Amino acid sequence: MDHNSVDTKESEPRAPETETYDVVGIGFGPSNLSLAIALEEGPEPVTARFFERQPSLRWHQGMLMPSAKMQVSFLKDLATFRNPTSAFSFVAYLHDTGRLAQFVNNCDFFPTRREFHSYLEWAESKVRHRVSYGTEVSAIEPVTDPGTGAVDRLRVVLRDEAGTRQVEARNVVVSTGLVPRMPVGLERDEHVWHSSAFLHNFRAWKKGGLKRVAVVGAGQSAAEIVRFLYDTVPDATVHAILPSYGYAIADNTPFANEVFDPAAVDDFYRGTQRAKDAIWRYHKNTNYSVVDDEVIRDLYRRASDDETEGRQRLRFARLSRVVDAKRVAQHTRVTVHSLIDDDTYDLDVDVLVCATGYDPMDPAGILTGLEGRLSQDDDGRYRIARDYRLLGADDLTCGIYLQGGAEHTHGLSSSLLSNIAVRSGEIAHSIVTGRTAAQERGVPA
Ligand SMILES: Cc1cc2nc3c(=O)[nH]c(=O)nc-3n(C[C@H](O)[C@H](O)[C@H](O)COP(=O)(O)OP(=O)(O)OC[C@H]3O[C@@H](n4cnc5c(N)ncnc54)[C@H](O)[C@@H]3O)c2cc1C
Repeated sequence: MDHNSVDTKESEPRAPETETYDVVGIGFGPSNLSLAIALEEGPEPVTARFFERQPSLRWHQGMLMPSAKMQVSFLKDLATFRNPTSAFSFVAYLHDTGRLAQFVNNCDFFPTRREFHSYLEWAESKVRHRVSYGTEVSAIEPVTDPGTGAVDRLRVVLRDEAGTRQVEARNVVVSTGLVPRMPVGLERDEHVWHSSAFLHNFRAWKKGGLKRVAVVGAGQSAAEIVRFLYDTVPDATVHAILPSYGYAIADNTPFANEVFDPAAVDDFYRGTQRAKDAIWRYHKNTNYSVVDDEVIRDLYRRASDDETEGRQRLRFARLSRVVDAKRVAQHTRVTVHSLIDDDTYDLDVDVLVCATGYDPMDPAGILTGLEGRLSQDDDGRYRIARDYRLLGADDLTCGIYLQGGAEHTHGLSSSLLSNIAVRSGEIAHSIVTGRTAAQERGVPA
């Protein structure tokens, strides 16, 4: 492949100084950070640039509560599963920052989320020269080679403080992350928050005024927020509105955990639709709408202690859904429907927190310029090769890769950290060699 440094080749009328990169990464969370590392450690130099709309690397900062822990082993870091001797591993970070002995003494595979964030920042500092922060990608458009008629490059439209500009890329890797989901009919405002912005909103709130809070959801974020509010605002009553009867445990046992192994991606990818459906059905409870054992027990202990002492600061509305929320005088009036007695009632709170999850990454918004050139299945989802490259028209000779948004083709780990080191390695390998690591292992592309 042509891996000269940034070039200015002309193919059609455009600004004379358009930069062209081998790889442009859209979004700079853990997935594309891991890709930047894979490219850095790769056998061939490539020109790569990453564009991130936030002002710096910020990984789920609205949920970095002090006691929140990772739900993935420290060994499933940005690099180790791809390259166990990488200088970018979590162990290298611990060693570099003098924390190795203390971490080992803890005998815990699961770091706190805050510590993991420090690790991400440490790794990011080594590849920062490849990243433009405060820069949003608003569109990707085809660039046609006038000689061959092939779309061999993409124009990436960028928006930053200075205005709009563009670069070109032979390959783009879209990694824009999960999209926060609100309950149907509810909008975010000053008093109705989504969990993704929880800490920002909480810090901005006058804490003294927080007397009654409702948290809707029964997943990990919901349980963590209930625990945090209970512990941090001693006088507040916390209403947990659960769509389930109680919090259900995240299955972290070894056989179930194999569903996140790199080999499971091959099995999912080549499996029949029935096999794919079965994997989702049986193993959703490793990640979706479930809570770590430790957090469940913490909450139960608090509720139980309260009862012993004759107070009830934690209240659970079971099998219940929020159907409306509106501002009434000084309160947010939350309308709750309980399935148990099919009753609807109002609850007045200061704040409603919607820990109602996320939708998968949806790259369609920035790929509209390629409409008609990208293959889709009968349900309108992108068709994706094993190396995470979008399948498309024959004249599409540039590469468009996804990190995320591949749950229907690559399985449960698509939106998670479990497989990012291997996935980034596969994408880097595909970009650099034009072949796929999977094809070499005999898995059809
Ligand atoms: C609170 C929370 C905790 C989690 N904990 C775990 C865990 O412990 N283990 C696990 O496996 N998974 C976990 N996850 C799942 C999560 O998806 C991954 O942790 C991880 O964030 C995936 O990384 P990513 O880079 O693909 O996406 P993200 O981290 O979401 O990064 C995407 C980036 O793209 C940027 N961006 C979006 N659109 C644009 C654009 N148009 N232009 C430029 N930049 C853009 C965003 O600002 C963002 O920085 C957690 C999720 C949440 C919400």
